[in-house]
Amino acid sequence: MEVKYLKEWENELNICIRCAYCFEGCPVFKELGWEIDGARGKLIIAYGLLTGELEPSEYIAEKLFQCSFCRDCIERCSANVAIPDIIAAARADLFEAGYVKDSQKQLLDTIENSGNIFDKELKPPDYKGEKQVLLGCRLLERKDDSKKYLDLLEKLGVKTKTFNESCCGMPFAVLGDKKGFSNQQDKFREMLPDKKEEFICACTTCVFFIRAKYPDLKAKYIIDEIVERLPDYKGKLKKLNIKVTYHDPCNVARGMDMVDEPRDILRIIGAELVEMPTYGKQAECCGGGGGLLVSDDKLAEKLAEKRVEQAIETGAEILTTLCPTCEFNLKNAVEKLGGKIEIKNLLDLLYDSMI
Ligand code: SF4
Ligand code: SF4
Repeated sequence: MEVKYLKEWENELNICIRCAYCFEGCPVFKELGWEIDGARGKLIIAYGLLTGELEPSEYIAEKLFQCSFCRDCIERCSANVAIPDIIAAARADLFEAGYVKDSQKQLLDTIENSGNIFDKELKPPDYKGEKQVLLGCRLLERKDDSKKYLDLLEKLGVKTKTFNESCCGMPFAVLGDKKGFSNQQDKFREMLPDKKEEFICACTTCVFFIRAKYPDLKAKYIIDEIVERLPDYKGKLKKLNIKVTYHDPCNVARGMDMVDEPRDILRIIGAELVEMPTYGKQAECCGGGGGLLVSDDKLAEKLAEKRVEQAIETGAEILTTLCPTCEFNLKNAVEKLGGKIEIKNLLDLLYDSMI
């Protein structure tokens, strides 16, 4: 197999001293339990592919696609090895060598044909203000919620402007389809009305991804906008007497270093916050990232169930989070576990408290 993408990470792979600090918190290792399932195991496979000591196989592909890109390993690695980037490079080489599952291909074909993961036309609510707002397909599909989040911004004084959107391309990148990603990037740029102007991004995954892959674009996370504007709105918030626990999405806490802000908002709206055993930068992943929902849905489901069980144990009535993919995965797990806790986006809670 040609390893043109992994080759770019040769130096980084040599920095790794195989110390294994990175696998302690790896959710996939914790669930599956074998060395090969942890971050270090995946790096050793990648190194084997790079040197030719390992031949690619279905099994190797399965192991490299069993990663949610949660970034817990990066937090623990003192050498700062870019583990998810290396895994992504290995996936790209495997993808080009034909190691693609039907479920992965189906998702990528869907986005290519319809511009989103739902294979249908997703029209945003029509707002004609000045500030561009990107909702992202998971929120666009929840039409009422999209409108609610735009109204939330309007209440805070943002004159929002919506536009027809196309996927930011994240699924192509995480599943290793380099060519598909490049095509989707062009489509994404085309849809953005003013490429030079800053835009607010309501989706956690999109904003983190756009900042990393479109350095010329100015994506502002909706929570940053809210945090700036909320002090002027404080007198118009009613206290919600609810007990909640907050699930830190990986891209928010570890990816964007945002741990306190969501908790501050919860305090401002009068929610009693009870933490799960792991939270903040140590928060366990729900399993919804890295393409795991199509690469190994059973594993994604198991990780979400674990997280929901931890949330139920806190005694909270609501498990709140910010990422729509976390919401989706956690909601499925709640249903499976008999609906003992409600899943709500933190933006919904904030909106509920607005008078
Ligand atoms: S990636 Fe970092 S923590 Fe993991 S084995 Fe290598 S050096 Fe150690
Ligand atoms: S990104 Fe998360 S799931 Fe992937 S190897 Fe690192 S700790 Fe494990």
